[in-house]
Amino acid sequence: MKKINADRIHTISGDILHEHVIVLDDSGQIKSIDPISEHDRASVEILKGDLIPGFVNAHCHLELSHMKGLVHTGTTLLPFLQSVVKYRDFPEDVIQEAIQKNDAYMYDQGIMAVGDISNKTDSFETKRNSPIRYYTFVEYFDLMQKSWTEKTWKQYQEVYELAPESIKDSRSNVPHAPYSMTPELFSMLKDSNSEGSTISIHNQETPEENQFLIDGSGAFRQFFEDFGFSLDDYKPIGKRSIHYALQFMRPDLKTIFVHNTTCTPNDLKAALAWNSQIYWATCPNANLYIENRLPNYRTFMEAGVKMCIGTDSLSSNWQLSVFEEIRTMQKYQSYVPFESILKWATINGAEALGFDDTLGTIEVGKSPGLVLLQLNAEGKVDQDSTCKRIV
Ligand SMILES: [Zn+2]
Repeated sequence: MKKINADRIHTISGDILHEHVIVLDDSGQIKSIDPISEHDRASVEILKGDLIPGFVNAHCHLELSHMKGLVHTGTTLLPFLQSVVKYRDFPEDVIQEAIQKNDAYMYDQGIMAVGDISNKTDSFETKRNSPIRYYTFVEYFDLMQKSWTEKTWKQYQEVYELAPESIKDSRSNVPHAPYSMTPELFSMLKDSNSEGSTISIHNQETPEENQFLIDGSGAFRQFFEDFGFSLDDYKPIGKRSIHYALQFMRPDLKTIFVHNTTCTPNDLKAALAWNSQIYWATCPNANLYIENRLPNYRTFMEAGVKMCIGTDSLSSNWQLSVFEEIRTMQKYQSYVPFESILKWATINGAEALGFDDTLGTIEVGKSPGLVLLQLNAEGKVDQDSTCKRIV
C-alpha cells in the first residue's frame, strides 16, 4: 500500500482536492481517497506540487522513432512526407533500439496509454511488453492508385493479424488521410472493424489538402506527379477534405481526427452531424515542426467538442511527451484554461481509446498512474515547469 498527498490533487472527474490522501495498492490501483486527517501523517508521502492522473498520448507513430533529428523543420507537409519516405529504410537494430528507448521515455514522462499508428510490425514486440497500454491503429493508404488497392489491403491485413491485442491492448484498421485513400480502399476498411473499435485519421494538416479535394489542383498534384503516380482515377469532390472522409467512414465508431490545423467551424459542424463520438487530437509541436502553424483552439472550444493531445512521431517532434505539448499550448494559446488542457491530456484521450475503465481520472478502482507537476505562480505550465511520474 502507498499513501500519497500533494498540495493539490486534480481528480479530473471532480473537484481539485486539498488535504487529501490517495491510497493505492502495489499494482497502482486506487483503493480510497480520504481526508488526510483520517491517516497518520507519518504514513503518508507528502509531495509539493500538483498531482494529476497519468497522460494519454492519443496520436503517435512509435515505429518512426529512429527519425529523431533527421527531418528538417518548417518545410511544410509535402516535403516533410517525402523526407519520411526517404528515411523509412534503416538497419533493423537502429529501429528497434529507438522504439524501445522511446517507449521507456514516454512511460517516464507519465504517459499511461498511447494511440499508436503502425504501417509495419516493427513496434509490436515493444508494445506487447510495455507498461504502457497501447491502441494500435494499423494504417492503410493506396495514394489514390486503384491498381494498388487490393495489394495494399492484403499487405496491411497481414500487419493487423500480428498487432497486439490483449486485455491491455487493442487494435483496428484505419485510413491514413483523405488525400491518400481511394473510395474503394475506404470502403474495404469500413466493415473490417468490430463494434466498439476506435478509428483514427489524419485530417486537414495543411491548406493544400483541402485544395486537392476541392478541385484537384495545388501542391498535392505536384507531389503525386513527383512520385510518378497517375491521378487518372482521382475525382475531386468540390468540398474540403474532411467531407470526403466522412462519406466513407462509420458514424457508429469512435473516431479521432488528428491535426485539424485548417479545420473551420463548418467542418466541425458537418463532422458532429455525422457522428456524436468524435475526438479532435491536436499535436501542437508536430504542427510547429512541419508547418510552423497551430490550430486555433478557440474554434474547437466554441464548438464544445472533445479535444485530446498527441505527440505524433519523432520524425516531426523533438520528443514524445504530452507534458511538452501542454507547455507549447500554454505558451502560444494561453487563453485555453489549464483545467481544460488537463482533460484533453488525460480523460478525453482515455475515452477516445476506450481505456477510461482504468485510466484518465483519479478515482477509486482505477489505475491511472500519478504525475506530479511543478507549475508557476499562476498555476500554469511555463518554461520552468516540470513533470515527474510518481506512480
Ligand atoms: Zn501522424
